[in-house]
Amino acid sequence: MPSALQPVERLHEVDANNYHYWITMRNSRQREAILRVVRTATCHPTAEWVYGEVKKELPGISLGTVYRNLKVLSESGEVQSCDSSGGTMRYDGTMTSHHHFRCEGCGNMVDIEDQLGSELDGQVAARTGLSIRCHVLEFRGLCPDCQRVRPPSERQAIHG
Ligand SMILES: [Zn+2]
Ligand SMILES: [Zn+2]
Repeated sequence: MPSALQPVERLHEVDANNYHYWITMRNSRQREAILRVVRTATCHPTAEWVYGEVKKELPGISLGTVYRNLKVLSESGEVQSCDSSGGTMRYDGTMTSHHHFRCEGCGNMVDIEDQLGSELDGQVAARTGLSIRCHVLEFRGLCPDCQRVRPPSERQAIHG
């Protein structure tokens, strides 16, 4: 009798809907928490750092979930990813146009106001005929803390 099965089927349906609802809620909570952490951080955090912060709020979250969400958030333009050859991928919640300084000593990233803006894009576009969407400029060197610390080889030379 098919009618006898109906309540059971319905029950499954409700369970499945609840499960789906729960997963969706969990996913959006995770994404919101990750976004909040990146937006409020000023240190241009790595995925590992974000993971450490989000874990305080959502202890069950995995590093893989954080990676996956950061990828989605940067693809949708909600955070910026700062890709750099040879460096760790870092994330930035500051969405206004700005440049970065990356310390070669400690890896810290600092924001540098973009004073060239779209002017530079226009100049390069006019010169090359390329269609420029944006530009990425990274300054490198040593932050004040790292400037104070001498490399071990120099320290030995001083003591010897
Ligand atoms: Zn440094
Ligand atoms: Zn930045």
